[in-house]
Amino acid sequence: MGEFFTSVHLEEDLCKGCINCIKRCPTQAIRVRNGKAVITKEFCIDCGECIRICPHHAKKASYDSPDVLNKFEYRVALPPPSLYGQFNNLEDVNIVLTALKKMGFDDVYEVSGAAELVSEMTRAYVANHRGKWPIISTACPTVVRLIQVRFPNLIDHLLPICAPVDLAASTARKKAMDKTGLPSEKIGVVFISPCPAKVTAVKAPIGIGHSEIDAVLAMKEVYPMLLPLMKKSVNDIEELGISGRIGIGWGSAGGEAGSLLTDNYLAADGIENVIRVLEDLEDQKFDQLEFIELNACSGGCVGGVLTVENPYVAKVKLKRLRKYLPVARTHLDGNQDNKVEGYWTDDVKYEPVFNLGKDMREGIANMTRVVELCEKFPGLDCGSCGAPTCKALAEDIVRGVAQEQDCIYILRDYIHRLSNELSKLDRKKE
Ligand code: SF4
Ligand code: SF4
Repeated sequence: MGEFFTSVHLEEDLCKGCINCIKRCPTQAIRVRNGKAVITKEFCIDCGECIRICPHHAKKASYDSPDVLNKFEYRVALPPPSLYGQFNNLEDVNIVLTALKKMGFDDVYEVSGAAELVSEMTRAYVANHRGKWPIISTACPTVVRLIQVRFPNLIDHLLPICAPVDLAASTARKKAMDKTGLPSEKIGVVFISPCPAKVTAVKAPIGIGHSEIDAVLAMKEVYPMLLPLMKKSVNDIEELGISGRIGIGWGSAGGEAGSLLTDNYLAADGIENVIRVLEDLEDQKFDQLEFIELNACSGGCVGGVLTVENPYVAKVKLKRLRKYLPVARTHLDGNQDNKVEGYWTDDVKYEPVFNLGKDMREGIANMTRVVELCEKFPGLDCGSCGAPTCKALAEDIVRGVAQEQDCIYILRDYIHRLSNELSKLDRKKE
């Protein structure tokens, strides 16, 4: 296991230690210690749930500042389809794309264009697949990370095709190099992200050796910059869009699976639902399905924590925007720009971060100890110890990062006993 990177972090001064986030985290990655939340990096899957729930805005995502554009001689924006769902009454994606150029980008490459390539590749992959069914989509990095650390039996089900954003990045870089003659390092390929997980996927990619993305901006920061520029763009709109209904559909839940032209799929969104589906899949409940699309955020990428619009409203806006577009506008065949290396180059290996021992024997011994500890605890899962449940505290004790008296009930009994013994001693002295 290498270095762990997560984009979600704490602004300590803002944290009040209220324990809301420890209860919400789907992988129990957070504890409150000394009155402040602490994230265990290897457990975090960058879902952003803690950012959503924190009433004091103490949890933040890391991303780049728009000033990062100044580092490059030629800058290409990668806008995802979820960006279009943020704007009211948008009838033409070219208004957004033209505004991006006014914002300081020299060119744009729609991620939805690359999504159409991924859809084509996936259709071919599904048709020729002889391995385990169903195939699980790999476009959401949180889902891939979750499977890598918690569902090792499902790793073989992962679709080994690059996410649209990675394909868009490599294609955009090649196009920019051909067009400008500049070396790669002078070209900045910049993604506009709806979520922290995509920031992490750039710094610590899974399935590919390295990402071609140089910087990631937050959609919620780009949005207010684009609004006035979109008004200015209305009179000189450039034809920059390269995607159709299929590509734009990827911005919300069900769009990817719907592009496979089969009914034999399931699409689930929201991290709790995703976990339920994966658990059922481990129990072999969905063997008959061909494809499973999973999005950690409710509503799909339009529900990312770095977006501004209500995901369900954004979904409706995307639906309206797609209505009059052709089915797809970017294709693999005959397009020299995207003769793709679109497949994963690296194996995805299980990372046993949640294991309680370095081998089976130690694991079983530690699990027995966890059960014994749980019997001592009151089972209230109150969170006062800073762990989300009594079992999580027991696991922390076994891992050597907590102690029994972190449980306030055990501490209370201990203090009781101590004070009784002191009183007895006092009485003896008298
Ligand atoms: S939700 Fe978590 S990060 Fe936010 S104030 Fe409470 S303990 Fe701190
Ligand atoms: S981003 Fe998700 S997994 Fe990471 S600490 Fe927050 S809630 Fe937990």
